Amino acid sequence: MSDHQVILRLAIPSPLRSEFDYLPPEGVVPGTLTPGVRLLVPFGKQQVTAILLQLVSSTEIEPSKLRQAIRLIDDSPVLPQPMMKLCRWASGYYHHPIGEVLNNALPVLLRKGESASHRPIKMLVLTDEGSASDTSQFKNAPRQRAIVEFLRSRQSPPAASEIRQLQMGGSPLRSLLQKNQVAWISASKKSASRHAHADPLNERPLELNQQQQQVFNQLSQASQHTHLLQGVTGSGKTEVYLQIIERLMRRGKQALVLVPEIGLTPQTVDRFKLRFKVPIEVLHSGLNDRERLDAWISAAEGSAAIVIGTRSAILTPLKNPGVIVVDEEHDSSFKQQDGFRYSARDLAVMRGFEEKIPVILGSATPSLESLHNAQTGRYKWLHLTMRAGGAVMPNFHILDIKSRPLDEGFSGPLVKLMAEHLDRGNQVLVFINRRGFAPTLLCHQCGWMARCRRCDARLTIHIHSNSLLCHHCSAQSPIHSNCPDCDSPQLTRLGLGTERIETALHKFFPEQRVIRIDRDTTRGKKSMRSMLTEIQRGHACILVGTQMLAKGHHFPKLTLVAILDADAGLFSSDFRAVEKMGQLLLQVTGRTGRSERAGQAVIQTHFGDHPLLACLIRDGYLAFAKSILKERRATVLPPYSHIVLVRAEATKQHLPLEFLREVRKTAESVLARQKPQHLDLLGPIPSAMEKKAGRFRAQLLFQATSRNKLQALLGECVPLLDKLSLARKVRWSIDVDPSDTI
Ligand code: ADP
Ligand code: ZN
Ligand code: ZN
Repeated sequence: MSDHQVILRLAIPSPLRSEFDYLPPEGVVPGTLTPGVRLLVPFGKQQVTAILLQLVSSTEIEPSKLRQAIRLIDDSPVLPQPMMKLCRWASGYYHHPIGEVLNNALPVLLRKGESASHRPIKMLVLTDEGSASDTSQFKNAPRQRAIVEFLRSRQSPPAASEIRQLQMGGSPLRSLLQKNQVAWISASKKSASRHAHADPLNERPLELNQQQQQVFNQLSQASQHTHLLQGVTGSGKTEVYLQIIERLMRRGKQALVLVPEIGLTPQTVDRFKLRFKVPIEVLHSGLNDRERLDAWISAAEGSAAIVIGTRSAILTPLKNPGVIVVDEEHDSSFKQQDGFRYSARDLAVMRGFEEKIPVILGSATPSLESLHNAQTGRYKWLHLTMRAGGAVMPNFHILDIKSRPLDEGFSGPLVKLMAEHLDRGNQVLVFINRRGFAPTLLCHQCGWMARCRRCDARLTIHIHSNSLLCHHCSAQSPIHSNCPDCDSPQLTRLGLGTERIETALHKFFPEQRVIRIDRDTTRGKKSMRSMLTEIQRGHACILVGTQMLAKGHHFPKLTLVAILDADAGLFSSDFRAVEKMGQLLLQVTGRTGRSERAGQAVIQTHFGDHPLLACLIRDGYLAFAKSILKERRATVLPPYSHIVLVRAEATKQHLPLEFLREVRKTAESVLARQKPQHLDLLGPIPSAMEKKAGRFRAQLLFQATSRNKLQALLGECVPLLDKLSLARKVRWSIDVDPSDTI
């Protein structure tokens, strides 16, 4: 192809679902361009950063309208080819514009056109003259002399930042520079020890037990496959990851480790840092743009040996990828809930395939999707059925509270049991999945309830901040002293939240330290860590908290976990609710008995003979999961079918439903041509909470037994939706494999 015919097909961050054609910039030989390089281009009245997708020889754009790119930003692609492929796949699968998908993969500064290699650092060195000079010539300039002597004492030259910190700048330094005694040189940050780490370890690894060893052996033989590592809480999954990663470090490979939330479980990151002396980059929300870019570059250039991060870290490029670990793979935080609605777990599996490396999905309570994939042989299934290091699984006890007197949610036997554990100097955890004091403020006289004006929801009473708070839109108002309808002062606080439980615990156990862990007490950056440190110290205390306490913590002195109320999850209208309830129960109770002291778990419920609950406790997670899978098969729900949710919202109530009716019609007209079997459209219906933050919401569900047929429908249908008459009057989105359907 001769150069004047070459057209650049680009991805540009824009909600428009299309690719954009441009002419190459002045003076750039198009043949030298590789997909993945960035270009600055005019877009409307702006200039934006675009990414080259491919070179083409023809375009549908009229020659006179074809614009020219302004300049090339990169010499080589910012994203390596497997990442470009992954992003293109994700754009197709999630029906999200490629420009926005690629934008998600780039740190903010790269989206703004910043260089994708480490910024060179300025360092101060002695010139030949300076090295040879006699310091007596600085008799009258002691500060100049100090600088020269400092530089002579150094093995490697100091960076400008160090000179600034030591306050060696200013006029003495300027004089030395003028006299050519010293000089600034530029050096790029040492890019990559790309070689193998002969000794990556800081500390000796634990000796694996037999089960761990078997799993390790299977994983070390793996070249490319997805593995589901199902290991009970405390079975030593993390130890297995550490040892597999150690092996890869010795071969110069990199590891990518995804965890649900870094702030909640600093212990996991600590364990990696204690074990290895190789460079580890942790991508957490506290990084500023520059730090994030530096970490990203270190990963892309290969100098970071281990990259640990949450959901979005799955899009971090690696020079020499060796393994991807998704820890707690069942966790719903791996699904992005807005914008580009991807599942980091599913992208990990796809990425493993593109990069030809193994993927390890680890959990004590795997998602039913992953279990199904393991059962059908798509994933290799590895098991750890026993706790490591001598600990045993907790002993479960269902406490049926039907018709029992409750004091602030606690039954008598539970309080008694807690006292026994505390008397022995142990720690006790009380779990209640609702923050605040109480979820309802009710007028005893007329039945008025405090409701959010912007949502179909009640306001939660928060005593500490003395306010009524909407947990859905964050609206806040003072707590009423009288009913706004009938002026009665008899306002009742109904239901339980963490604040109320904390107060009750002070009443039951006035001598005990009570530590409350929920979103309200852990707002400060350091507060979660300092509370965890206190718990780890091991003094007797009571922990009360939400699902934040369920995540991966290791509390050696915790011997009793009490679930105050297991009932909410049993009767939700979301088909995943029971699965999630079971996972949460086992994860929370898995915090107990993790070292030499045996653990106990008590579950208060009004439905002591609920078959699924009984199955979970008696037969374990796998039996529980299998019986839910049976129901899903009978009702043709995921993983036995595939679903896609189209959501719409608007400030006018009728618009979302009207728009979704148009969507349905469009889909039906496509279906009339495609005629697939077992493909259903359900709805549109108003969402379970129809009004949220002042907007009305509705949804339309697509469901099919064949993923390909569903994708074929969406492929034809989605481009038509932008053109619907109401498309601009509502906010709408497509959620492929949604994690919630209500
Ligand atoms: P998981 O990730 O499955 O919850 P961990 O790897 O955190 O399990 O292990 C739980 C506890 O058991 C940790 O304190 C860990 O140090 C310990 N442990 C793990 N493997 C062994 C082993 N082979 N020998 C002794 N202790 C072990
Ligand atoms: Zn009233
Ligand atoms: Zn609200």
